[in-house]
Amino acid sequence: MRKNIVAGNWKMNTTLDEGVELANNVNTLLKEKKANCEVIVCVPFTHLTSVNAVIEPELVKLGAENCSEHAKGAYTGEVSASMVKSTGAQYVILGHSERRQYFGENNEQLLAKTKLALENGLLPIFCVGEVLEERENGSYNDVVRGQVEALFSLTPEEFGKIVIAYEPVWAIGTGKTATSDQAEDMHAHIRKVIAEKYGQEVADNSSILYGGSCKPSNAKELFAKPNVDGGLIGGASLKAEDFMGIIEAFG
Ligand code: PEP
Repeated sequence: MRKNIVAGNWKMNTTLDEGVELANNVNTLLKEKKANCEVIVCVPFTHLTSVNAVIEPELVKLGAENCSEHAKGAYTGEVSASMVKSTGAQYVILGHSERRQYFGENNEQLLAKTKLALENGLLPIFCVGEVLEERENGSYNDVVRGQVEALFSLTPEEFGKIVIAYEPVWAIGTGKTATSDQAEDMHAHIRKVIAEKYGQEVADNSSILYGGSCKPSNAKELFAKPNVDGGLIGGASLKAEDFMGIIEAFG
């Protein structure tokens, strides 16, 4: 079901103690002022169990930042979807541009990860987005279409569980935010692509988040757009007050 969501992506930041403190601070702020959206913190694998112990599930949901494309077995260093699920996490970020860019994750692997996440009861936050060159040469709509279509072997029921995060790569961690009109145009495009395959109802029920240098000062304008259902937040999720400032964009 479509809902407004603000999700933090801590990336490879915070020691365990720092992460637990951050999660605790977010939880405390949300106890003082209830959010008008779903709040998720996506944290490093090492932090999942400890963070789960300090957040209140009705205030903050828990997610991982990745999971393996394999179910189990001899894959040293990998973490499976069932392991993530067993920590209490409900969400998992998949296909983040840093995973695509630095770890060569391709559409086939991302489909396998998505299927395993769903089979294990995790809700994927599936990231799509073009690089600067694709924005500048005008191919961005096709690029993002292709990334969304990589999931089109899912059933409508399965696809209905996916949260899409549109994250223009040129805006991630750069301080350069897409304008609210650029975000709205792309989100409307993504919804249309989903509708073409799965029908308007599935498309209308899909939550589509914006990510890329989102902060308290620009969140309100971005989230006010009709097709922007919230944000996936990197840098600004590492300070509880900033993260809260973004959550408060929903009132
Ligand atoms: C992200 O990495 O998902 C992200 C949106 O990062 P930032 O907010 O720091 O641009």
